[in-house]
Amino acid sequence: MYSSVSDETLFEIARILGGEEGVTIIDIIKNADEITVEEIAEQTEIQINSVRRILYRFYSHSLVTSRRFRDKDTGWFIFQWRLQPKLIDAYVTGMKQKILKKLRSRVQYELDHEFYHCGVPTCPRVTFEDAMDTVFNCPVCGESLKPVDNEAYIDFLEGKIGEIEGELEA
Ligand SMILES: [Zn+2]
Repeated sequence: MYSSVSDETLFEIARILGGEEGVTIIDIIKNADEITVEEIAEQTEIQINSVRRILYRFYSHSLVTSRRFRDKDTGWFIFQWRLQPKLIDAYVTGMKQKILKKLRSRVQYELDHEFYHCGVPTCPRVTFEDAMDTVFNCPVCGESLKPVDNEAYIDFLEGKIGEIEGELEA
């Protein structure tokens, strides 16, 4: 039904948007063709107002879609909810592209700067420019600053970038 999005990704998004209840609800919707708020509440034993609140959050993030029709007996409108397959793809892709952009600018920052650190784990790394200002003493603890090799960190970031680029091409 929703081609390239794994259950894991779907649940991850549902958890971000709706917590554990969100995961329970998306699981029910995934396994139903179409389902009403009342049916979801009944099957999950989650309060109907919570179901509605989470569904609208899913809806505003294009995770689900709804179809409205009029009940023949009562004349009231009933909403049927279902997964929005293509837009989930778009949402996930958009999220990955955002992460990719951040990682790339992070790598550029690491490549463009020299870093210094005093060796105390709780103290921050400082750039060469900032280290100059404090005459190569840690701005927090005052210990002398030593150059930091950030090659391993750059390797790590580039590895992550490669991973996400691979996923986006898949
Ligand atoms: Zn320090």
